[in-house]
Amino acid sequence: MNIHEYQAKALLRSYGAPVSDGRVVLRAEEAKTAAGGLDGPLWVVKAQIHAGGRGKGKFKEAGAGEAGGVRLAKSVEEAAEEAKRMLGRTLVTKQTGPVGKQVNRIYIEDGSGIETEMYLALLVDRQTSRVSFVCSTEGGMDIEEVAEATPEKILSFSVDPATGYQAFHGRRIAFNLGLTGPQVKQCVALMGTLYKAFVEKDMEMLEINPLIVTDKGDLKVLDAKISFDGNAIYRHADIAELRDTTEEDPKELEASKYDLNYIALDGEIGCMVNGAGLAMATMDIIKLYGAEPANFLDVGG
Ligand code: ADP
Ligand code: MG
Repeated sequence: MNIHEYQAKALLRSYGAPVSDGRVVLRAEEAKTAAGGLDGPLWVVKAQIHAGGRGKGKFKEAGAGEAGGVRLAKSVEEAAEEAKRMLGRTLVTKQTGPVGKQVNRIYIEDGSGIETEMYLALLVDRQTSRVSFVCSTEGGMDIEEVAEATPEKILSFSVDPATGYQAFHGRRIAFNLGLTGPQVKQCVALMGTLYKAFVEKDMEMLEINPLIVTDKGDLKVLDAKISFDGNAIYRHADIAELRDTTEEDPKELEASKYDLNYIALDGEIGCMVNGAGLAMATMDIIKLYGAEPANFLDVGG
């Protein structure tokens, strides 16, 4: 299960991670009051959709302008205008596919002075069955591209669950990211905080791109993307509440009502299969013969 950036930041803030102050806006009329509640002098207006690449994304509709889904504003009025411009429009990013996603929520937050942008992620490494850290100095970029072109710029290691997170893990990340002085201490603390949140809330992935050093020399979480293990949601009523079904595929939503393992895909051959292994094999065979499956579906035994 995925959540929005503003929800992810609120969760990380509750654990003590450094994030900017911000307000969520659901209706255009609320935008000015929301922006007015922040300090300024710089505001950042961010479209909330369950997809990344918003900054470089483009709106489909005419009148929405060329600008993307993350915009700087220098006044409350300008911030409100940007929010109005985005609300209800369809944002197309590298991660949404050509159909795009309708923007129904806006997050307005304090603008940060940025010294450097870095990449950080925690995820479940299925090879080692452990939680792994992934970090890179190449922040704000498409990490898949970094992995392809300059894999040496990515550091990845897993944490032994018997010992859990230790300060040396944080120092390893700090030195790899080229942090110095008090930033190293901040990094050790922040990584511990993130690891704790990750494990306690049964996350599948926690991606911070970018993690920044501000112009004042402090670490800050500037973007946050979290997905939770769907099978563990029943243990977290607070997380279940964050679900935004308007972001989900209507077919998958319908299937979830019946506890079916259904994933919508782009192909033309529908699959109704008993058992996940056979469902995977069926999809493989379809692909082997040059066609595309329209879905994955395991209807059970
Ligand atoms: P996405 O990854 O979906 O494009 P981000 O939240 O990473 O969205 O924002 C894209 C870029 O916008 C960031 O890399 C950063 O340069 C800038 N940005 C985002 N939030 C802020 C902020 N609060 N203050 C200043 N710049 C920001
Ligand atoms: Mg980002």
